[in-house]
Amino acid sequence: MSDSIFERIAAGELPSHKVYEDAHTFAFLDIGPVTRGHTLLIPRTCYEQLDDVPAEVGAALGAALPRLCAAVKAATGCAGVNVLQNNGQAAGQVVPHVHFHLIPRYNDGGAGDGGAAGVGFKFNWPAGDLTDADAADLKAKMAAALADG
Ligand code: AMP
Repeated sequence: MSDSIFERIAAGELPSHKVYEDAHTFAFLDIGPVTRGHTLLIPRTCYEQLDDVPAEVGAALGAALPRLCAAVKAATGCAGVNVLQNNGQAAGQVVPHVHFHLIPRYNDGGAGDGGAAGVGFKFNWPAGDLTDADAADLKAKMAAALADG
């Protein structure tokens, strides 16, 4: 028996509303949907963060995401979908097993779009300015990290 709740869900040891599965991934309805049709896509094996995921599993998640997005749209008739991956506690991650949220969005002024009518599902997006100096610093450091593997 595995430790992660999501690993146990993917293994069928705990119940879920499964919507998709393949060799590496599993998708099921979120138990606390922000909007109707809120779905989670996970790797079957527990990796805490996205940067822990091996390339083969990452490729499977990447292949499943567009298909699942289309299925969520078809099932709900939503107008859009937020794909959200809270990577790490500081980013709002609660369950320590990588998961992608697919959150359907509705053009109804908020009533079916999460929360009370007129409110909807929103997140704060405090856009700043990117300086040339910071861009150069970031690009050099990321290039070095990517070259490391
Ligand atoms: P996060 O904050 O990104 O870690 O989100 C965790 C998500 O997992 C939340 O949206 C929860 O509602 C959802 N969740 C937790 N336990 C279950 C469960 N047993 N079945 C379905 N969804 C779950």
